[in-house]
Amino acid sequence: MEKIYDLIIIGAGPAGLTAAIYAQRARLNTVVLEKLTPGGQILLSEKIENYPGFPEVISAQKLMKQVQKQAENLGTKLNYEEARSIALEDEEKIIHTSGGKKYKTLAVIIATGAETRRLGIEREKEFIGRGISYCATCDAPFFRNRQVAVVGGGNMALQEALYLSKFAEKIYLVHRRGMLRGEKILQERITKNPKIEIIWRSVVDQIYGEEKVKGVKLKNLKTKKTHNLPCSGLFIFVGLKPNTEFVQNILELNEKGFIKTGENLESSRRGIFACGDVRKNLLKQVIVACGEGALATHMAEKYINEVKGIEYK
Ligand SMILES: Cc1cc2nc3c(=O)[nH]c(=O)nc-3n(C[C@H](O)[C@H](O)[C@H](O)COP(=O)(O)OP(=O)(O)OC[C@H]3O[C@@H](n4cnc5c(N)ncnc54)[C@H](O)[C@@H]3O)c2cc1C
Repeated sequence: MEKIYDLIIIGAGPAGLTAAIYAQRARLNTVVLEKLTPGGQILLSEKIENYPGFPEVISAQKLMKQVQKQAENLGTKLNYEEARSIALEDEEKIIHTSGGKKYKTLAVIIATGAETRRLGIEREKEFIGRGISYCATCDAPFFRNRQVAVVGGGNMALQEALYLSKFAEKIYLVHRRGMLRGEKILQERITKNPKIEIIWRSVVDQIYGEEKVKGVKLKNLKTKKTHNLPCSGLFIFVGLKPNTEFVQNILELNEKGFIKTGENLESSRRGIFACGDVRKNLLKQVIVACGEGALATHMAEKYINEVKGIEYK
């Protein structure tokens, strides 16, 4: 007979790995599917300063290795496969993966997170890796003593601009609003940093260059005036695109593609839960993803018990 798991967790970022820790402790028969490397998006960051319990700055890689180790020590099984689709068969859910495999399970936790959104302007794709980047931690050393532009005004843009200031000669932070959105502590560091200059109420209208980025044409949204800003790097942090393509036909998503859930983290389908950055929630941070991972497993366990007819007396 084909094996039926209690729970399949899709994604091994902070949300998925925490869900796995709770699943192992609940003795649920679980597998975690991960398409790339366990750890998730935070691996794109050099360090993490706002995760409780670490008064000194901790490396994001180190933190996620510890979480992975904790999950594995408890017996978590991690399979390196991409979930491609979920089908429903009565109470059972069938997950098809990139490896051509098929998993049957009672409950699913979707913890597939998100990726940085593209600006969506001409030539953006052509210049990726030739001046355009979505990860300062990965690419900043290539821009030593150069002039770069950073687009965005949220936490990620501020953090990455600060990181870039260790390498680049000058950083222009291009923001479409008249004030920044990121944490106040980051805003203070940005204003104190002599290498960073903010260009307010402006957007990138065009990217120019031949083989590589040579600069961008900026447009002021108030005056409608444009001007060229020479730079060899353009770092884009303008929000997130959720990894939900594989469930868009079966789950209710919001207009930006994030999974809608109730406060019990259950999606529009019974037995399919979502947690972390992939969910329509109010804060995209590691601590939130971990908390939601724990809650998702707790609610999934209740659902599994219900399906199996197990009652707590
Ligand atoms: C540059 C940067 C700096 C940041 N700095 C901070 C910070 O200082 N503090 C903080 O708290 N947060 C920070 N964040 C945000 C934080 O990284 C996210 O909130 C957090 O990682 C979300 O966790 P998650 O598990 O929900 O999703 P993710 O971390 O996105 O993990 C999702 C996982 O699912 C996998 N996956 C996706 N699709 C599939 C599929 N179909 N099948 C199988 N696997 C799949 C992915 O490969 C990934 O491993 C930062 C993010 C970035 C990008």
